[in-house]
Amino acid sequence: MVDVLVIGGGNAALCAALMAREAGASVLMLEAAPKAWRGGNSSHTRNIRSMHDEPQDVLIESYGEDEYWQDLLKVTGGLTDEKLARLVIRSTSNCRGWMKKHGVRFQPSLSGTLNLSRTNAFFMGGGKALVNAYFRSAEKLGIEVRYDALVSSIEVENGRFIAAHVGDLRIEAKACVMASGGFESNREWLKEAWGVNKFGEMPADNFLIRGTRYNTGILLKQMIGFGADLISDPLQAHMVAIDARSPLYDGGICTRVDCVSFGIVVNKNAQRFSDEGEDFWPKRYAFWGRLVAHQPSQIGFSIIDSKVLGRFMPPVFPGEKADSLEELADKLGLNKNALLQTIQEFNLACRVGRFDHTVLDDCHTQGLSPAKTHWALPIDKGPFYGYALRPGVTFTYLGLKTNENASVHFNGVPSDNLFVAGEMMAGNVLGKGYAAGIGMAIGTTFGRIAGAKAAEFVLSKNKKAQYA
Ligand SMILES: Cc1cc2nc3c(=O)[nH]c(=O)nc-3n(C[C@H](O)[C@H](O)[C@H](O)COP(=O)(O)OP(=O)(O)OC[C@H]3O[C@@H](n4cnc5c(N)ncnc54)[C@H](O)[C@@H]3O)c2cc1C
Repeated sequence: MVDVLVIGGGNAALCAALMAREAGASVLMLEAAPKAWRGGNSSHTRNIRSMHDEPQDVLIESYGEDEYWQDLLKVTGGLTDEKLARLVIRSTSNCRGWMKKHGVRFQPSLSGTLNLSRTNAFFMGGGKALVNAYFRSAEKLGIEVRYDALVSSIEVENGRFIAAHVGDLRIEAKACVMASGGFESNREWLKEAWGVNKFGEMPADNFLIRGTRYNTGILLKQMIGFGADLISDPLQAHMVAIDARSPLYDGGICTRVDCVSFGIVVNKNAQRFSDEGEDFWPKRYAFWGRLVAHQPSQIGFSIIDSKVLGRFMPPVFPGEKADSLEELADKLGLNKNALLQTIQEFNLACRVGRFDHTVLDDCHTQGLSPAKTHWALPIDKGPFYGYALRPGVTFTYLGLKTNENASVHFNGVPSDNLFVAGEMMAGNVLGKGYAAGIGMAIGTTFGRIAGAKAAEFVLSKNKKAQYA
């Protein structure tokens, strides 16, 4: 019987598998995806938010524990477990050496609208290179990886893991780490969670999934059935406004539309619905998916003029381009008069000071609802551009409650051989909101803890058996 079974093939699973193997346990990984699609959402990532007290290789200046914690506190509105959050924060200050040992390489951040050179260490080659490096290392260390190995259920007795099922196969193990992601790719579950809105629509029908199609939450659902302790709620998720033409799955980061703060966003009735200039884009980008999700037909349109071209990362799909606003309305399928009126009211309300997109500048609207509080410039210089936006779900936050040992809990009692890591427990640290790079920080920290604790449990059992 294998010592440690790891379910999943993303960052959290790989960190767990590598740590358990390094500790001396035999490890089997079960990845639902075929080899070509291995790595889950982790393969789409670019960076990890990292604490550092002084400049460190690719990170400039400093980003101390308290600033990191305050950032997390702000985005979560306090929906975070301080003990576990600080554990994550501290572990990001020293995990990169271990990551490098397993082949991960870092690079400084590129400039663009998500300028994160102080706070986030970027993976050279992105998340795909990171997971490939980890899989290579796993192979070298003798970890067995099975692809196309969707775990349909697990057996748990009195809070202890017994076995996992893949098709007709029953696989026993002495300990198990579950790192099989959230339920973002499970349309039915998303629909159940989001229900019917005031327009009589099911908003989740129009959600696009930014990452893997394999995170369907099968095990999460089963654990709920087993009465495992839960954290966060099914409505909480990281949701970005992405190009409406993106593929249903795996569009990744290039489908993001980063010009929101440089213009206005209207719904299908050509009405604005939120402050496009509330804060810097890195802090706001994860809110716009949800804002669009609450609009009729779950669609929005980001509209800019030529003055702001070159100030943001260009989207991968070209936007609609028009010499007049009337033509743009036609191309976007919006009511011409309604759009012209919205833009006219906006333009008249703009109080332009000194425009500077690198600070919270003094260009704002007056007497307009909703206000645009920064970077408000009239939309008046053609050609004009428009991008249709849809909610893009990155990952869901509903997960299993855990502690500093990454144990799954039943009625407050930690299991001694069943552990959890990554998206499946991210809600402990991230009850809502998001700070760029925290997903990989949580997965790396808890993946490593879960693997080490699973191995520790098994090896101490083996030792006891040896001397019995
Ligand atoms: C486009 C995009 C960009 C992102 N960028 C960043 C970033 O730059 N920085 C950051 O910190 N975070 C980022 N994130 C979030 C980040 O991807 C996640 O927080 C993190 O990767 C979660 O790791 P994980 O191992 O828990 O999940 P995943 O990497 O999704 O891995 C889950 C794994 O479980 C497997 N699986 C699922 N169900 C089963 C089953 N029943 N049986 C067997 N296997 C199963 C899946 O195939 C997959 O391999 C991004 C996400 C997306 C989608």
